[in-house]
Amino acid sequence: MKSISMPQVYYDALVELAEQCAPEESCALLVGKQEGGGATVTDIILAKNVDKNPKVQFSIAADELISGYKIAQSTGDDIVGIFHSHPDSEARPSHTDLKYMAANPVVWAIHSVRDGKMRAFWLDESGESREVAMSFGSC
Ligand SMILES: [Zn+2]
Repeated sequence: MKSISMPQVYYDALVELAEQCAPEESCALLVGKQEGGGATVTDIILAKNVDKNPKVQFSIAADELISGYKIAQSTGDDIVGIFHSHPDSEARPSHTDLKYMAANPVVWAIHSVRDGKMRAFWLDESGESREVAMSFGSC
């Protein structure tokens, strides 16, 4: 996966969610299509962070995950990414994130509330995290 594009309106919504949830981490599912080396986001599903340590980790409830997959499948789309925020650290995967990235091989978008910056990552075949180019379209 080399790139991910999403409509500006979803980017804005994710940033707003991250700011509202700080100092806790926020999370969301990115629905869309995967083609060649790129993913296109067509919808986002905001999720609740149910982790017992929400300031430094996030967990999406199993029922929200399942309904997310059902929503995506109903339109012929897929879950192409997972979004979460880092309230007070940079926008790169933590050690815990890397562990879960291996189990959930989709694009991981991370927004740093502290830095006001969103970045996206992908775990390659050798288990190295690689930055994925993000672009924001108008629709
Ligand atoms: Zn994280």
